[in-house]
Amino acid sequence: MSIESSSEPKRIILLMRNSTYRGQAFYEAAKKLEIDVITGLDIHPDLADYWKVPLALQFDQPDEAVREIVEFTRQKPVQAVLSVDDSASLIAAKASEALGLIHNSSESALAARNKYHMRRMFAEGGVSSPQFRLFEMTDDPHRVAAEVTFPCVVKPLLLSGSRGVMRANTPAELVDAFHRLSRMLTGLNRVPGSTQILVEDYIPGVEVALEGVIDQGELKVLALFDKPDPLDGPFFEETIYVTPSRLPNEVQAAIADCAGQAAAALGLRFGPVHAELRVNDAGPWLVEMAGRSIGGLCSRTLRFGLNNMALEELILRQAVGLEIDSFSRATEASGVMMIPIPMAGILKAVTGVEAAGQVPGIESVEITAKLNQPLTPLPEGDSYLGFIFARGETPGAVETALRQAHQQLDFTIQELLPVI
Ligand code: ADP
Repeated sequence: MSIESSSEPKRIILLMRNSTYRGQAFYEAAKKLEIDVITGLDIHPDLADYWKVPLALQFDQPDEAVREIVEFTRQKPVQAVLSVDDSASLIAAKASEALGLIHNSSESALAARNKYHMRRMFAEGGVSSPQFRLFEMTDDPHRVAAEVTFPCVVKPLLLSGSRGVMRANTPAELVDAFHRLSRMLTGLNRVPGSTQILVEDYIPGVEVALEGVIDQGELKVLALFDKPDPLDGPFFEETIYVTPSRLPNEVQAAIADCAGQAAAALGLRFGPVHAELRVNDAGPWLVEMAGRSIGGLCSRTLRFGLNNMALEELILRQAVGLEIDSFSRATEASGVMMIPIPMAGILKAVTGVEAAGQVPGIESVEITAKLNQPLTPLPEGDSYLGFIFARGETPGAVETALRQAHQQLDFTIQELLPVI
């Protein structure tokens, strides 16, 4: 008997923030699989009744959130507790542990949230990863500059999406970057690690993103994305992702090995994995790995098996123990462009969306930024103008289509006048 014919109803808890782009794709996959989804939303209890949220949690209070989840499941048992992104991976790991469900170690979930923990675990596991040093944001940046080597990268421990990540080639640039990051951190909630700054060696090379899933302890590579736009700094804005990779097969194999070692070093045993690696003459280097799937709307580029299964369906199938007929990506090339914010200001108008959508190979163009709302570019910002999706026969054709579509778009951004 196949597991799918079992009549046992499936139910999961899906943890997310209101602001995530990831929810819809998981809801669609769950509906297809007839899995009942309880959304565990990061929301203040005072607002939970008003919004009629069945499971209101505060992600900045993980122990309390775990207690709430365990209490909730007494009435409604679940097969899995998943977090759609890094924001609740620690809560998902701890709740799964408390409920006796398969889960990643809470250390790995912590590492996914804290870049310093991650670097330490990579170093202990012998994973190729940059040398690093930890500082307090109140440290004298001139002293920091005397202690590190150049070029280096200055970064916060707890932010994501390249926020606050800056390259410094000289002591003077390091001092500026350190001040700039300290200013950003001052405005954030105080939690352990939020006032610390990591400085690490800059790793030159081309960058790739690896999407994988850990199945029975083994990392299966679902897709390797090339990032054809150079990411040389001083800020590291994601733009184009194209899969399959055009790197030679032996380089791709070395990347997969390095990612497998990294997953083991972090104690990731189950579920989705997303990693960024750089490759140079010394081989692959692990920049970052998380126990979650690809962010934003980017998973739309991926389809698996004969039935064009979505990544979220694959993740949910694994989580509740349903069969997965194939981990193989559909053969055609595909890609996405995360449309960067060119300058700070207020978004007043967007034109050319239709023309961009008509470029051969373009599947869709989604502008996610809202009109009349402020836009903040990196390193302070945390969003994109939108996403362009393309498919084609070759990775080169996909890349060309994405660039041509982007050229059709025009964004009117009104500069903010400084307050005097
Ligand atoms: P985040 O979690 O915010 O995305 P990362 O540590 O992954 O932060 O850094 C974001 C990007 O910055 C990386 O994808 C990479 O392009 C660049 N980067 C980060 N650290 C280094 C490094 N040590 N050397 C070279 N580039 C780096």
